[in-house]
Amino acid sequence: MKKVSLVIPMYYEEKVVDECYKRVHKVLVELEDYEYEIIFVNDGSQDKTLELLEEIAKKDTNVKIVSFSRNFGHQAAVTAGLKETTGDAVVILDADMQDPPELIPEMLKLWEQGNEVIYGKRKTRDGESVFKLATAKVFYKTLNKLSDVDIPKDTGDFRLVDKKVVDTMNNLPEHNKFLRGLWSWVGYKQYAFEYERKERFAGETKYPLKKMIKLASDGIISFSTKPLKLVGALGIFSIFVSMCILIYAIISYIFKLNSLSAGWTSLMVAITFFAGVQLLSLWIISEYIGRIYDESKNRPQYVIDKKINIEENERSSKV
Ligand code: UDP
Ligand code: MG
Repeated sequence: MKKVSLVIPMYYEEKVVDECYKRVHKVLVELEDYEYEIIFVNDGSQDKTLELLEEIAKKDTNVKIVSFSRNFGHQAAVTAGLKETTGDAVVILDADMQDPPELIPEMLKLWEQGNEVIYGKRKTRDGESVFKLATAKVFYKTLNKLSDVDIPKDTGDFRLVDKKVVDTMNNLPEHNKFLRGLWSWVGYKQYAFEYERKERFAGETKYPLKKMIKLASDGIISFSTKPLKLVGALGIFSIFVSMCILIYAIISYIFKLNSLSAGWTSLMVAITFFAGVQLLSLWIISEYIGRIYDESKNRPQYVIDKKINIEENERSSKV
């Protein structure tokens, strides 16, 4: 019998744990031709999330738990969950039920037809603020302009992927994986599955602006070196500006316009402008160097505190 694995990251989700399990479980038991497992990843929540998950795992051994030693972030949680999967098809789902688990049977059908990555494309997005929608739009636009792979817009992490693709993903040596981009990067037979994204079942978003900015900059930097080229463009632009100033100075000298003795303002503007350009360039370069430094330390993306109902398999590891 074929097996479906679910990966569900959780960060302070005590209000949604029970509802999430109930809905997901209902869908999975109705799938007659498949075995299932649900891998919950507790991303360092300090509320009752883990406790509630443990209660569920006691009753249902198909429920497996990976619990982090602290909060390592959503992408890390999904990455860790993927390593523990043993299924032939793997579904990644948010805990808050914004991505309806009732769509899984349809996605499985598409998978049986030979598609290897079936990604959810949001047709509508209920209950999300205008600000969130606008920032998401700017982010996808910028990322696609800058990066070399085409990351479909309006997609999140909700998707069904074949075991083969999961293995490829698990074997990538990067530490800070930007999964949304990597799913496109790995290739394979992709299928866009349109759905209506619902409102959060309970609780608040765990993606404050700070985490969104980090995700966006990780995405841009790990998929593009174009910002580095921007540094060159800035340099050329400032040389151009300084040439203009030089020509102006020469003309003033020849025609004795005599405006240069009162040149304090223009001098200050030029100095601060060039200092600004240089610092901006340094900042872009250091974002890259920072990430090279992070990768070179070889530190893992997360640390697992405990695992429940999980036997070590060839894919799994502690970090
Ligand atoms: N999440 C996580 N670690 C984090 C932030 C979020 O595991 O540091 C989980 C969260 O519990 C949820 C999923 O990632 O299952 C998506 O988060 P959320 O629904 O808050 O994001 P949004 O839908 O608002 O973008
Ligand atoms: Mg959500």
